[in-house]
Amino acid sequence: MTTDLAEFAREKGIKYFMISYTDLFGSQRAKIVPAQAIAGMQADGAGFAGFASWLDLTPAHPDMLALPDPAAVVQLPWKPEVAWVPASCVIDDAPLAQAPRNVLARQIAAAAELGLTVKTGIEAEFFLLEPDGKAISDPFDTAEKPCYDQQAVMRRYDVIAEISDAMLGLGWEPYQSDHEDANGQFEMNWAFADAMTTADRHSFFKFMVKSVAERHGLRATFMPKPILGLTGNGCHVHVSVWDDKGMNAFADPSQELGLSARGHHFLGGIMAHATAMAAITNPTVNSYKRINAPRTVSGATWAPNSVTWTGNNRTHMVRVPGPGRFELRLPDGAANPYLLQAAIIAAGLSGLAARADPGKRLDIDMYQEGHKITDAPRLPLNLLDALRAFDADEALKESLGTEFSAAYVKLKTDDWNRYAAHLTQWERDHTLDI
Ligand SMILES: [Mg+2]
Repeated sequence: MTTDLAEFAREKGIKYFMISYTDLFGSQRAKIVPAQAIAGMQADGAGFAGFASWLDLTPAHPDMLALPDPAAVVQLPWKPEVAWVPASCVIDDAPLAQAPRNVLARQIAAAAELGLTVKTGIEAEFFLLEPDGKAISDPFDTAEKPCYDQQAVMRRYDVIAEISDAMLGLGWEPYQSDHEDANGQFEMNWAFADAMTTADRHSFFKFMVKSVAERHGLRATFMPKPILGLTGNGCHVHVSVWDDKGMNAFADPSQELGLSARGHHFLGGIMAHATAMAAITNPTVNSYKRINAPRTVSGATWAPNSVTWTGNNRTHMVRVPGPGRFELRLPDGAANPYLLQAAIIAAGLSGLAARADPGKRLDIDMYQEGHKITDAPRLPLNLLDALRAFDADEALKESLGTEFSAAYVKLKTDDWNRYAAHLTQWERDHTLDI
């Protein structure tokens, strides 16, 4: 594990470091620092005007410092003279409470106090588009059911292999890549890890996919629903919790689906807070065109619209595909990598504390028979509903941190208001002659 960035630079031939932090909207912000200056930056942090990104700071606040985490440094596979290093934000000599990486660190510490480590794997789907972002880049990728399309995935082999090679070199243990359910859509999977490692890798993966796609004259997007009528970009999360003896605390072969009592309680917390969590797992206006979507060309949205769970059945919000873990299918490609993990841990730990009951599992096909289920909460229909649900969930807000929660609601409500201020063509078409 790297502890000294200057030494890392000497060993790896690094000329420049990107000291990178992620703001509340999931944007990655970086300064480029020459290797000759990195020792000072590692000690003191790189200075930023916090107001200039989405952190709910004012122009009058003092410098925010981004302290690089050397253990998480990554040499860019496509530009080896540069290294990316995620940073934690500090202001006035204390962690900035609302900065996403700090929010996650607090949740990891809360789990650690119980002797638990949350491990997660993510499935970050993306589209490869034309550079202007308007159309799928492959004109031959037109099948009605394009999932696992052998010919189409091989037409993008050069992009996929470059990213997969990079992950192999970084030791992420990638194990499969495929063409996904929408035309132009792909998914690449790598091994699960502790929540912070997964969040850092998720952040870097998005940066890497976009960067490699650009090198191939393409535009990669993780936008939740970039093309109406096609399956959107999910970011399913597989969750397990491990105890201090290194045993999977979710595994119990004697229990329903091999999920232990603690697993059921953790899941109960996810179910109880799901409509509020959506503000974090599905954080954009566009997110709500993926969940609650009409049937797609391929026949299924692969996205939930109600708070339900099941066994190995992909039509529900939570799937228990095998013993000792569950898959949360709610999050989308716009989810902030750090807040996504933090929300899952916060909701899950609250379920553990309350010995929450996730309710009865459903084994029906929700896409066909979901309308028969009348007692399951519906997921929010739009970002404003989600933000209101989050703002009403005092327990979740408190466990995620009151400074963070207030900042998040404020900035995302402003985001919604900017969207709502647009006069759309739809309104003209339906209202002009009324
Ligand atoms: Mg998928």
